[in-house]
Amino acid sequence: MLDVREVYAEPAALDSPRGRQIMARLPGARVTEVASHWGIPSLHGNDGNTARWVRIKTGTLVLGVKHTLRTRPNGRSADWIAPGPSNGCAMACAYCYVPRRKGYANPITLFTNIEAIVAHVRRHVRAQGPKTEPNQCDPRAWVYDIGENGDCSVDALICDNTADLVAAFRGMPTAKASFATKFVNPDLLALDPQGRTRVRFSLMPADDARLLDIRTSPIDGRIAAAADFLDAGYEVHFNLSPVILRPGWQQDWADLLAHLDDVLPTRVKQQAAAEIIMLTHNRSLHEVNLGWHPRAEEVLWQPAAQETKRSQNGALNVRYARDIKRQSLTHLRQLIVTHAPWLRVRYAF
Ligand code: SF4
Repeated sequence: MLDVREVYAEPAALDSPRGRQIMARLPGARVTEVASHWGIPSLHGNDGNTARWVRIKTGTLVLGVKHTLRTRPNGRSADWIAPGPSNGCAMACAYCYVPRRKGYANPITLFTNIEAIVAHVRRHVRAQGPKTEPNQCDPRAWVYDIGENGDCSVDALICDNTADLVAAFRGMPTAKASFATKFVNPDLLALDPQGRTRVRFSLMPADDARLLDIRTSPIDGRIAAAADFLDAGYEVHFNLSPVILRPGWQQDWADLLAHLDDVLPTRVKQQAAAEIIMLTHNRSLHEVNLGWHPRAEEVLWQPAAQETKRSQNGALNVRYARDIKRQSLTHLRQLIVTHAPWLRVRYAF
């Protein structure tokens, strides 16, 4: 997954304990100091990088300091979105929204001021007090998404930020960390989360994943990991996303759900829940993808079924038309009732 040869780093990040720890694990990597992890011209953006971004994602790392520490309300995947310990990803899913600000080639940026991030989260958790009203996020704990802009499992290959957050939540009885992942990293099994971290393994039919989830762990591997993660002290949920409508999607999702029912042990089923997220795509990402993975666009880009909406940041996002989306979600919920009735749907969007 990672063979880091090149590091772009803010000087303050290099000088920090976490920065020094990361660099000690990368002997021989060439270091280029940068003023900011935002907008490194030779790295970010899409022009010229289309042909080489898998190489960039494999061999390049950015170290930065996260200056704005803010926790935002969410209410879907989690109650709150915590300031993430990273931004960017070594994987390359064709529909990924994470690169929207730095360009598709963006490799992992690790934030080295992890103590400040953890201290911020602790203060936020303390300020909430106990959760008194159950909601779909969790009946008792405030849930904090710690991986909105990356994949914590991959970050943990080269850095202890994920471990530090898991350890911090272990000591917060009113809160729980949560992150979605498409990568099975067995190192996480040793972190002893004591039930205070929820892993959401992302699932989709294997044929879709082979086409779209570039560089991720295979779907069977993610499913097989569920029991190991539960036994290691994680709560294990499933992130059924993105749901992509293409000929045969109904049968393939039925097969996936029946497979989950066949192979998951009862202890996993008893605590499992799922979120369902229909595909959101984006016109500029569509154009980028045509340059490197046009077959992905044959399923992602379906103008006859999709409508365009300008997002707050001005991007032209594309989603399934309201009626199509509603019917599809109803169908998928029915498939769950039929094939995996133990799987509680936390929310569908
Ligand atoms: S694993 Fe997640 S963050 Fe990484 S490329 Fe895929 S969708 Fe994006």
